[in-house]
Amino acid sequence: MKKSCLFIFLTFTSIAYSQKDLPKIIVGIVVDQMCYDYLNRFGANFSKNGFNKIINEGAHLKNMHYNYIPTYTGPGHASIYTGTTPDHHGIIANDWIERKTRTQVNCVGDAGVYGIGGNSLYGQSSPHRLNKKTITDMLKETYPKSKVFSVSIKDRGAILPGGHQSDGSYWFDYNNGTFITSSFYREELPCWLKKFNKKNNARSYAKVWEPLLNSEAYSAEDDSPYERILRGKTKPIFPYDIKNLCEISGSLTPFTTSPFANTLLTDLALRAIKKEKLGKGTSPDMLCISYSSPDIAGHAFGPDSREIEDMYIRLDLELSRLLNTLESSYGKSNILLFLTADHGVVPVPQKLIDDGKKGGYVFIDQLINELRKKSINAYGVDFILGQDNLNIYLDYQKIKTSGIEKEDILNFIALNIKGKKGIKQSAKGKQLENLETDDGLLKMLSKGFYPTRSGDLLLILEHGYLPKTSLSVEPFKGTSHGSGYAYDTHVPCLWYGMGIEKIEVTRRLAITDISTTLSQILKLKKGPETGTEIKELITAE
Ligand SMILES: [Zn+2]
Repeated sequence: MKKSCLFIFLTFTSIAYSQKDLPKIIVGIVVDQMCYDYLNRFGANFSKNGFNKIINEGAHLKNMHYNYIPTYTGPGHASIYTGTTPDHHGIIANDWIERKTRTQVNCVGDAGVYGIGGNSLYGQSSPHRLNKKTITDMLKETYPKSKVFSVSIKDRGAILPGGHQSDGSYWFDYNNGTFITSSFYREELPCWLKKFNKKNNARSYAKVWEPLLNSEAYSAEDDSPYERILRGKTKPIFPYDIKNLCEISGSLTPFTTSPFANTLLTDLALRAIKKEKLGKGTSPDMLCISYSSPDIAGHAFGPDSREIEDMYIRLDLELSRLLNTLESSYGKSNILLFLTADHGVVPVPQKLIDDGKKGGYVFIDQLINELRKKSINAYGVDFILGQDNLNIYLDYQKIKTSGIEKEDILNFIALNIKGKKGIKQSAKGKQLENLETDDGLLKMLSKGFYPTRSGDLLLILEHGYLPKTSLSVEPFKGTSHGSGYAYDTHVPCLWYGMGIEKIEVTRRLAITDISTTLSQILKLKKGPETGTEIKELITAE
């Protein structure tokens, strides 16, 4: 340990000067589960120096959408940072069924690596399933001295943005309440992070979560039947004694469901900036931050809860703290910052039902069981290998031995799904590979389709519907995301700093445009394969 500390100390001697026309530091911020309309709904309670500062002094892209299905965290981060869609980068979901092993794999799970900084399974992660280069990879290939760091509570929120050549990607260890990495990146945590972990354990950040403002300031009621009740609580209401709830549940999940995890992550980001001397070298450095807690809380409480409103009012203050440090350290003209989200979210479907709106649930396990029975009745064989993310996977071994045509089985399953409540349509994998229609949802599904990883039959649900499994805790409370509808696809996109003028862009943009635009601004050797540059952000020379 002493040796590596000395090494890092000696590298501090490099002389700082900046490359012309390039920012010293690029900061990419992803808010996990942020609908575009939160900027309006919660905006009145935001400070002057967070979201509102970027909106008032930077570029506000009002119509940024995901252009594929499914809208989950893994694909979202991969698409923002590669500038391509899942049909190219291969991150089709957070997890999927791997045909070779016939088991579920995680998008960043990697049994070939081990955790560094903690001895738990949380460290067995790497970007080995990400099949394209990220903007962070391309930055390092263009400017070999550029440094790239990424931080998040979720492993995938740090790993996918950091890319394949990250100098440090750190995520939360739910066992220890500290930040870890994996042997994919390095053999030891840097000294500064070891020190940070010692002083800044999650448990010391876990306090009593009270609403920041007076009751009248919130648009949402505190108590509602659509919010999950955290273990240790009898009602879904403030205050949340997070430390106590962690003890009761025997886990740190209540902590990551709280805004205190955003504070811990901001502190980590600021420490990384300082200790890694980001923006002080000869080439632009990049820091990627992904705030996971809005998503964890959003699943539990839903977008119409006071908890989520307060989460965002507090996140705005974290953003303000970050902006303030960046500006005072580098000056606005030397930083380039963008903020977006990996997906939005649907209102709690039960609330939609109760409000007389379109929405509901598809009990997916029940449906699959029915299909298995029908398959046995018709063919004497259950041809379904499994279901994940509304992808139905067929068992190729059984198909081979049966001698029955795969196409016939697919037609049979599709026929038995047709007309089921909540299911809009199904599409065969083969059809998506060679799609000839420009039908919005089918086109989006095809951009999320990767032949060797996706299923054989993919389902699209109706507007407002969520799949529910038999394992779902407290059904009809809490919510999720994943669809191609605007509540999941429409996300904020804000830019601030070097060369970014105050501007509002209302034309529709695709999430893949972010990296394509960055590659132009940063004059990278190579840009993403897809995506279109957002010309309003590129200053004429
Ligand atoms: Zn989520």
